[in-house]
Amino acid sequence: MNEFDIIQQFFHRPAKPEWLALGIGDDGAVIEPSPAQQVIVTDTLLEGRHFFAGTDARAIAHKALAVNLSDLAAMGAKPRWFTLNLTLPKVDKNWLAAFSEGLFRLADEHGVCLIGGDTTRGPLSISITAAGELPTGRPAFLRGGAQVGGRLGIVGGLGLAAMAVAAREAGNQASAAASQALDFPQPQLAAGLRLHGIATAACDVSDGLLADLGHIAQASSLGFDLDGEALAALAVEQDSQAAKLLFAGGDDYALLFVTSAGIAVPDWANDIGVAVAAREPNAIQLNGGPSWLQAGFAEALDKPGFQHF
Ligand code: ADP
Ligand code: MG
Repeated sequence: MNEFDIIQQFFHRPAKPEWLALGIGDDGAVIEPSPAQQVIVTDTLLEGRHFFAGTDARAIAHKALAVNLSDLAAMGAKPRWFTLNLTLPKVDKNWLAAFSEGLFRLADEHGVCLIGGDTTRGPLSISITAAGELPTGRPAFLRGGAQVGGRLGIVGGLGLAAMAVAAREAGNQASAAASQALDFPQPQLAAGLRLHGIATAACDVSDGLLADLGHIAQASSLGFDLDGEALAALAVEQDSQAAKLLFAGGDDYALLFVTSAGIAVPDWANDIGVAVAAREPNAIQLNGGPSWLQAGFAEALDKPGFQHF
């Protein structure tokens, strides 16, 4: 099976949205752009770094697309199309069939269309570029857009994916819920679209709450007061280890946002704090909450979020 057969059998699909003049099969795709602002995102997943060797191909495909869709959600965009650069060590039809199934299940759920890509041989790597559109007249949510008095909201869970990583690294089996969170993260696209008119800043939580909130704090030159009672209610278990993962565990792809000053967090999200004037040395402070949460917070502050270099 050569690369053209692979593309034809596993990635080429006849259905074509009206804005796609030409899809997979030529030197490039041709699209009819809409007048809306476009958001472009890209992310790479490497075996051994972003997923354990031997992970189900459905999960690998799901995650490769989900992390990109999560970035689009955090910008407030509706996904339209994506490209797939796939590097494979060998041609394994069963693996490709599972990969294709996982990819298109998520793509179809969100109405996003695969319009091209590249297929090469080498160590397993999946790189996706995706594009989405902003609703007319609505700006993208920027990390630097938070204002003093804005409430901090979150949609999606925290710390569960990191629990699965910890279990697997220790050679144990993760709980079903933790495995699901790690392998099949759900991009918060509907929430991202509903936040227009409510939020001024947003970020998806890929590197841990403190690390990603730190990006908003730094870009907006603000601090944050976190609500210990609200965060304790989000913890998976009531102990300092779970609390540490809540603050510093990555891979959850929850959607973090800051409302306009004086606007409440909507009831379909969790209110976890408020933006305050910047202060040093710690821009992020935890107020109240049980002692196990405070202990996990202190530990998490010592450990910055995941960094490649
Ligand atoms: P070229 O030699 O011009 O780069 P390719 O043989 O790489 O062309 O690709 C042929 C067509 O198949 C192109 O339309 C390309 O976008 C598409 N394609 C290649 N690999 C993939 C893939 N993994 N997923 C989706 N489309 C792909
Ligand atoms: Mg090519």
